[in-house]
Amino acid sequence: MMHKERDTEMRILIAEDDRTSRDILTAVLRKWGHAPVAVDNGNEAWQVMQDKDAPELAILDWEMPGMDGLEVCRKIRSKMTSNPPYLIILTARGDTGDIVKGLDAGANDYISKPYKNDELQARLRVGQRMMELQNELLATKDALAHEAMYDALTGALNRRAILSGLEKEIKRAGRRNTTLTIGLSDIDHFKQVNDTFGHQTGDDVLQGLVEKMQYNLREYDLVGRYGGEEFLIVAPDSGWSMSKIYERLKTCIADSPIITRSGKIDITLSIGVAVTGADDTVDGLLAAADAALYTAKREGRNKVAYAENKTDKKTVCKISAPCEIVTNAQR
Ligand code: GH3
Ligand code: MG
Ligand code: MG
Ligand code: MG
Repeated sequence: MMHKERDTEMRILIAEDDRTSRDILTAVLRKWGHAPVAVDNGNEAWQVMQDKDAPELAILDWEMPGMDGLEVCRKIRSKMTSNPPYLIILTARGDTGDIVKGLDAGANDYISKPYKNDELQARLRVGQRMMELQNELLATKDALAHEAMYDALTGALNRRAILSGLEKEIKRAGRRNTTLTIGLSDIDHFKQVNDTFGHQTGDDVLQGLVEKMQYNLREYDLVGRYGGEEFLIVAPDSGWSMSKIYERLKTCIADSPIITRSGKIDITLSIGVAVTGADDTVDGLLAAADAALYTAKREGRNKVAYAENKTDKKTVCKISAPCEIVTNAQR
């Protein structure tokens, strides 16, 4: 008996060189509510499966011109590893050896010709259930990967991620002989915000601050939550533009209030900036930025202070006013 009801729509590739079989299969899949894409050879099947919106399930005839169904299976399995489609081999061959061959090539299932429609429909449902499970797993995996990298409150990179980003950027700057700066920023008198308006409003300030930071920095600069109200900026290739980046950020934060549930709140930032030298490490750079941050606080807050790292003195600017940096490479 044939199932008459429609299934949830799936994009399904039909690769079948026999025109009559292909047309019948196309019609029956449509009737079941699916969106079939039909091709008559293996090469085209492979093309279609590489599309951005490739079908999630493919019914592949074993014998076809160009690549045969098994080759298409192998190719898909070796190249498409991140979101693999469900593959059904369609074959007139029915002996165990062939079935094993088909499954070993990477097919999830096989159907022997001639097949009954209700068996095909049931097998498609199995495929659909598998794909739903796979999609749920992938979504969970993505969510976990995101959680592992980003701070839940502000959306900035979390401490671990910003530190690992810093490590990578230090190595890259070393390889390319470019200069990297980091800015350790801390909100001035943030405790007062919490004490006056409450912790939730304080949270709004943190969110608004990160939004502003991201808006103000360049696309390839990194912002991470280093601690409670301390944020670390990693700015590659920034030796010369160092004062621009951090002074501009400081000024922008001081000049426009952050909108919170308690209304507009003015905050200021103190920022300690350090520049990479010849053999810098994550710890060395952070210690230098931290010392500079302490200087910025001591000198009255709403201020950018620059670290005196161990690099060639002439490469590092010691003052907190806007300045230009001269590096060895540029001298
Ligand atoms: P200073 O200018 O010296 O930096 O003063 P401050 O008040 O900012 O410094 P302090 O380190 O004394 O206070 C930091 C405050 O940040 C204390 C803490 O309650 C608050 N804080 C840390 N994390 C969060 C958070 O996730 N949400 C909120 N609302 N407050 C936070
Ligand atoms: Mg064929
Ligand atoms: Mg602090
Ligand atoms: Mg603070």
